[in-house]
Amino acid sequence: MKQKSWISIVFSFASQCRGKIALSVLCAVISVAAGLIPYWSVYQIITFFIDSSPGMAEVWKWCGIGLGAYAVRFLLYGISTSLSHISAYTILENIRLTLAQRLMKAPLGTVIGESVGKLKSILVDRVETIELPLAHMIPECISNLLLPAAVFLYLVYIDWRMALAMLATLPFVLIAFAVMMKDFNQLYADYMESNNDVNGVIVEYVEGIEVIKAFNQSSSSYEKFARAVESFKGYTLKWYQNSWKVMNFVSAVLPSTFLGTLPIGMYLYWNGELTPQDLAMCLILSLGIVGPLMNFTTYINETKAIEYAVHDVEKLLHVEELPDTGTPVKVRSMDIQLQDVSFSYDKEGGQQVLSHINLNIPKGRFTALVGPSGGGKSTIARLIARFWDVDNGKITIGGVDIRDMPLSQLADIVSFVTQDNFLFNCSMKENIRLGNPNASDEEVYAAAKAACCDEFIQKLDDGYDTMAGDAGNRLSGGEKQRISIARLILKNAPIVILDEATAFADQENEEKIHQSIAALTRGKTLLVIAHRLSTIKNADQIIVLQNGQVENIGTHQQLLDSSFLYRNLWEAHIGAQKWSVGSGKGGN
Ligand code: ADP
Repeated sequence: MKQKSWISIVFSFASQCRGKIALSVLCAVISVAAGLIPYWSVYQIITFFIDSSPGMAEVWKWCGIGLGAYAVRFLLYGISTSLSHISAYTILENIRLTLAQRLMKAPLGTVIGESVGKLKSILVDRVETIELPLAHMIPECISNLLLPAAVFLYLVYIDWRMALAMLATLPFVLIAFAVMMKDFNQLYADYMESNNDVNGVIVEYVEGIEVIKAFNQSSSSYEKFARAVESFKGYTLKWYQNSWKVMNFVSAVLPSTFLGTLPIGMYLYWNGELTPQDLAMCLILSLGIVGPLMNFTTYINETKAIEYAVHDVEKLLHVEELPDTGTPVKVRSMDIQLQDVSFSYDKEGGQQVLSHINLNIPKGRFTALVGPSGGGKSTIARLIARFWDVDNGKITIGGVDIRDMPLSQLADIVSFVTQDNFLFNCSMKENIRLGNPNASDEEVYAAAKAACCDEFIQKLDDGYDTMAGDAGNRLSGGEKQRISIARLILKNAPIVILDEATAFADQENEEKIHQSIAALTRGKTLLVIAHRLSTIKNADQIIVLQNGQVENIGTHQQLLDSSFLYRNLWEAHIGAQKWSVGSGKGGN
């Protein structure tokens, strides 16, 4: 696929602010025109002095016009810049909103699979890098280009030879740029890659500091960190060295417009082909274009930075979308069925995680998934919640293929709690209320009690009003899990899936939570994946999964008799329990 230019991508986000951008451009153009008037005033005054003795009134008039135009120039430039800042922020807002919407529509698994650092870097930092250059480029590019162009035309009007003389240094500058640009793209790409690399290493270093300290790996981790920083320095200097010589050369040569205008101007003056006032005007104007042209050169790096940021955004905007029908369907029963389901995470010839699974998870019953780690239990749970779509076969709820159901309807039907529990930075009460925004405070407290979190929340400084951010570090993994369970209880969805949702709870609490869940989910379809088999031993059916296939199905007692694998798992669990009780470690 041909990559779209960054300009067309940026402008595709500018639909609401096209008028403002146009106005910003118009103000910039008028500002440039106004900027030429002071030169015209000087020209008039010089002409008066050379041709005749001027009346002071004429001089004051042209001074006034020049000053007025100068003021208009800056006023309009200010308006143009304000409008372009507003437009740039509107574009940024649209980019961020579109990204967030796209992430909501992408398979949840894909979003979770991306590193938080990378997503944050694109959504916040990368998008932000676009604002300043974008806001300044609109008015500045226009004035920096238009002003020299207008001056050039004016010089052509005075004498075309002077116009060409003004550009005498330009060929040297263009050659220097051509030389610089030969390696520029590659060097910039290397610089960006090493920039990303150093960002990744820094995030890893900071996030992993606990492990680094616990395993005394500070010197080797530091080395990796130092190497990344060192190589970043190397690439930055290489890129810088490639540009600074050329940029210095350009800064020295480009402003030297007198090299052309002075000899040619003198020659034409001596030959009587240029009046003294025209000569003075040409010299003044040729100096006037130096600033804008120099400013223009600084956009080379900024354009590259925007181009990279926009293409990163574009890549994220093209993550595959989960098809969503959007039309609600009638679901008559809450039976879940997996029919001939196969799935692999890596679609390009990767290992199949589930192959041809057929399962019936009946409504109103408690089903448990057990088996050795890596057998595919969590994958089944995630597929039912539609984190991804199955590769083969189908998953149905009440006979309806979950792909024919809007994602929002599926989310209403299914409550899914895993061991990673996220608390939003709002109060404990609001965190629980996320399960059901219409719940009363009393309902929130009741759910908290059922999930065994009432006691520890009451102990927080502001009880249920404590902000999660303030309490976050003081809450243990098990406590955060219990808040998620309270959310789930409050949501009261007809299908409840718990994937190691109580793994961090201590044994006493875990049993209490499971009793509450069992009571509160009576009549609902309950699917539990639990490492501690004692919590699922009362399940109506236990499915033993191994290497992506169903090994056996039955009740606890049936499986003890018929499944060698289950018996082994059970004995290992009982053994571990005895060991943990014996060694006084309390099974946490
Ligand atoms: P279980 O829950 O039984 O421990 P999982 O369903 O988590 O097993 O994993 C089954 C297999 O799929 C494992 O080999 C695991 O490495 C792989 N797997 C799990 N999640 C992902 C993922 N997001 N990307 C790639 N492979 C994965």
